[in-house]
Amino acid sequence: MKPLLEVRALTIDVPKGEGWMRVVDGVDFSIGAGERVALVGESGSGKSMTARALMRLDDALRIGGAIRFAGEEVLGCTEAEMRALRGSGIGMVFQDPMASLDPFMRVGDQVAEVLRIRGVGRAEAHARAVAILAELGVRDAASRSGAYPHEFSGGMRQRVVLAMALVAGPKLLVADEPTTALDARIQQQVLDLIDDAAADRGLGVLLITHNLGIVAGFADRVLVMYSGRIVEEGPVEQIFAAPAHPYTRGLIAAVPRADMRVDRLPPIDGAPPSPARRPSGCAFHPRCPVRLPVCVMTAPQLRPSGGGSVACHLAAAEEAMA
Ligand code: SF4
Repeated sequence: MKPLLEVRALTIDVPKGEGWMRVVDGVDFSIGAGERVALVGESGSGKSMTARALMRLDDALRIGGAIRFAGEEVLGCTEAEMRALRGSGIGMVFQDPMASLDPFMRVGDQVAEVLRIRGVGRAEAHARAVAILAELGVRDAASRSGAYPHEFSGGMRQRVVLAMALVAGPKLLVADEPTTALDARIQQQVLDLIDDAAADRGLGVLLITHNLGIVAGFADRVLVMYSGRIVEEGPVEQIFAAPAHPYTRGLIAAVPRADMRVDRLPPIDGAPPSPARRPSGCAFHPRCPVRLPVCVMTAPQLRPSGGGSVACHLAAAEEAMA
């Protein structure tokens, strides 16, 4: 069966001075219908750029490679086709709900507007907006739909944004750090809502996060991104039980959890490199506690490992000796 989303050799360049700077460099992944995939990495790894490229949200980006959604090449779509795809094919939730909401428009109207621009009549659009707000936990949704965004809490605003993302019946939800701006208690509520809404609708989900801690109970598969490349990917159980890449191990070490079988891994020192100053060889080598001489000069390629794949010279050597 064809995947719902297929990304091949994705490159993303951003304008820099007179030229271009590569921020995503040869990324491959796919998401099946109803599958949940987490794209994980520190800030600056390129994961949010990847999400923006999928939706073609930023005209300033130069995007290469292939992005196929339900068999259609997204990079070849006209702007009108992209408008139809956003919402009906792919819904999106961002970190800051206020950035997605019009402060001067009632929240019910904002949700209904997603349907209105698709030709749904006013009364039906409003009824469906109220229904989805109620489903997503907005109490007394019929009257609260007449409120403005500033009258809602952060968690409630994110429910409104989620309603806008889902109301037109997409097949894939891209959620870019959807809980990061919320306090811990509300974070779990919003994640549970996404979980339930995706399960009810059989949605594929691409969850983008810097926090591996929220991934374990949510995703089927994990992609770990560093400096614009996927450095490890695999089933969620494998990633947590036996991470092969030192960066993945460091991310896991930053999330203390009683149920993890990986003991006392060192956290990662230092910061990710700027794309303008990507190190030679393995981009993680300046921070890697177990680097080898070869790591400084030669970039490791992603190769199969267990049920997933990893790009690391040491992991390859260890596997060869096992
Ligand atoms: Fe560390 Fe080398 Fe593996 Fe990179 S390739 S993560 S530097 S061991």
